[in-house]
Amino acid sequence: MNAMKEHDEIRQLLSLAAADALETHEEQRVAAHVRSCEACSEELRQWQEMGAALRRLPTPQAAAALVARTLAMAQAKLAEESERRFERRLLAIGVTFSWVLVALSWPLVAVSLPAPGAAPLGIVTVFAKPPSNPA
Ligand SMILES: [Zn+2]
Repeated sequence: MNAMKEHDEIRQLLSLAAADALETHEEQRVAAHVRSCEACSEELRQWQEMGAALRRLPTPQAAAALVARTLAMAQAKLAEESERRFERRLLAIGVTFSWVLVALSWPLVAVSLPAPGAAPLGIVTVFAKPPSNPA
């Protein structure tokens, strides 16, 4: 790998290195490069300074009422979501049950269907018959 490419890649990792967010092998790569590269060494030092300064800032605390309201909203949303999931499961069970019912009752329907050539059943018979005395 050429030195310029390595330098560019390491520069991308410097902020993460300062935040201790790198994998061990990346950390070792950065450390090795920084020993021989003045520019990256300086940039890493600046990132580390900035990180330390940020950690010294007071963490803003949300108002207790806002936290309570947000928590209540989140819980309501979760409850609504789980109710919707339950309804979907119920619907799936209903659909499955009706398909099973159709499949199980099909032999009964098949037995009660007229043989080929016989008169059709029920209401179909009424409309299928030609008028006995055409006008
Ligand atoms: Zn470098």
